[in-house]
Amino acid sequence: MTAMGSAFGHVLDAQSKQIEQNARFLDSLQDLSARKAAQIMGSRGGKRTQERKKARRSEVQACPMCENPARKDVTLEMLDFHRRHAPAAPIEYQEANGAA
Ligand SMILES: [Zn+2]
Repeated sequence: MTAMGSAFGHVLDAQSKQIEQNARFLDSLQDLSARKAAQIMGSRGGKRTQERKKARRSEVQACPMCENPARKDVTLEMLDFHRRHAPAAPIEYQEANGAA
């Protein structure tokens, strides 16, 4: 092989090594950004779940039906409010002023 040919071979070699390095670098970048995105989503998701839990907790605290499930003067509004945070349960209610 002539000197020119081997020099050309070396250049090709170096280039393919360079391309390989770039590909690996891009891979690690992608991996890094995927992990970062997951971390951000995870923390955002976690935050949102916490907020939802907090909102639900404050609703339960403010709910007259949670406070006293056996109360008689249940209105539609109360029922509606209660159903937003409590699983649907067979609850009897009477008109606030129409109690028998
Ligand atoms: Zn309730």
